[in-house]
Amino acid sequence: MEKSSSSPPPDVWGAPPSTTGIQAAGVAGSSVSAPTSRSFRDVLAGSSTAKTPVISFTKSLVKGVPALLMSEEDILKLASPYQFTLVGKFSVRRPNLDAIRNFFSKLKLSGNFSIGLLDARHVSIQLTNDLDYSRVFSRRSYYILNCQMRLLKWTPFFDVKEESPIVPIWISFPNLRLHFFNTHVLHALGSIFGRPLQTDQATANRSRPSVARVLVEIDITKKHPKDIWIGSENCGYLQKVDFEKVPYFCLHCKIHGHAIQDCFVAHPHLKKNNEGVQKVYVPIGGEKKVLGTNVFLEGEVNP
Ligand SMILES: [Zn+2]
Repeated sequence: MEKSSSSPPPDVWGAPPSTTGIQAAGVAGSSVSAPTSRSFRDVLAGSSTAKTPVISFTKSLVKGVPALLMSEEDILKLASPYQFTLVGKFSVRRPNLDAIRNFFSKLKLSGNFSIGLLDARHVSIQLTNDLDYSRVFSRRSYYILNCQMRLLKWTPFFDVKEESPIVPIWISFPNLRLHFFNTHVLHALGSIFGRPLQTDQATANRSRPSVARVLVEIDITKKHPKDIWIGSENCGYLQKVDFEKVPYFCLHCKIHGHAIQDCFVAHPHLKKNNEGVQKVYVPIGGEKKVLGTNVFLEGEVNP
């Protein structure tokens, strides 16, 4: 089956987070509340508080099956309440949802949050502002009751069978000129690479002028420039760019943890050559087997 989702628009979440945008997107009123079940007729009739986007549908036939088609613009409208949503992935065991909710309560986030089960190994973590989002995502993983939960970015193209290659990376700009330690400049510098999330404290305070650091969500499967020109065309300079702790991502398996050149699935001969040699990461086949043999602490659906 062909996947049109393999080439999402590069700037799907590229816009800088803004509080006014969140309000317009309707996060506050939509996903976190609405506890009671309502009929479509009730919901679509609308109430004065609901901000349901108006979507145009076309019913058609695609690849021989009935299709409900909508424009990419409308899809992004529907996705906008989820712009601060992450996915928690448990590779081996998962605590029950109450334990996960409890864990997030103790983080004392600044906004509301909502945790839901996507499947036995994945939970959705809906956050409501860029501050909480950046704080949680920058950790990359948490341990909840001794179970590791890795954090993945949710996008409209998120698929539980693949991992998103978009991760928060600290980008540092060594010897950035003093006058460029400015929020606008730093945000613009970060946005060359992806969606800028935050600067570190020392950069914000300008207390460490040797290097500026910006946390940016970047697609680690893409090539990123190691130098950028800053300033005017005549009076600029070449600024070095360093990427800190970029994790491995396998383009073949679409998961984190190993590079394609070390992939046992893409290069089966590697496994033979390395028999007896201890590898740090778990080969992909192993991870899938784990799914069948391990007992999850909770059933499939009911949150
Ligand atoms: Zn692989």
